[in-house]
Amino acid sequence: MQAVQELSERLKKIGYQVRLFQTAAQARRYLLEAIGPEETVGIGGCMSVKDLGLDQALRQRGNAVRWHWEEEDANAARRAANAADVYLCSANAVTEKGQIVNIDGFGNRLAATLFGPGRVYMIVGKNKLCKDLEASLDRIKNVACPKNAKRLGLQTPCAVLGRCTDCSSPQRMCKATLVFDRCPGGQRIEVVLVEEELGY
Ligand code: SF4
Repeated sequence: MQAVQELSERLKKIGYQVRLFQTAAQARRYLLEAIGPEETVGIGGCMSVKDLGLDQALRQRGNAVRWHWEEEDANAARRAANAADVYLCSANAVTEKGQIVNIDGFGNRLAATLFGPGRVYMIVGKNKLCKDLEASLDRIKNVACPKNAKRLGLQTPCAVLGRCTDCSSPQRMCKATLVFDRCPGGQRIEVVLVEEELGY
């Protein structure tokens, strides 16, 4: 609890809006209130959104949701999501200093969070907290990516071995890495911290 609270204070100091919730259900309720029913919502690759059931809840109440996981033309969905009113995603890792670390295969989430939709909600479960950048990259490559690769049925070494070999697989997931040292100037990013494990 203390680590998450300390991170919350740190993130506020470096330019983020922050909301801290004890449970995923509270975070879900908050996000459904914070996003207007008429707003378009883009979603970046995000198990945390899935875990919260947000995509379904938003669609059911009438929000236009664009998510490449669920559309035939995935690239069109990625572009539409990056032009939405609101963007929902997670972070792969957040350091004690408040550095937010994400790795993408396509770069759509990186682009959206760097200078995309005017409002970004980044959902971060306590399992994403890491000591520093080195620990963050280790977590992403050896915990998150293997699980994701397995889920997607990708032919990458990490899907089989459960660890990264810095592969040259055609289906390599790790093609671009973005570290936010501070909240980027042109963006309004709200970090939704949750005291439960969410996503990978
Ligand atoms: S570089 Fe390759 S093996 Fe390593 S995590 Fe990424 S996809 Fe997996």
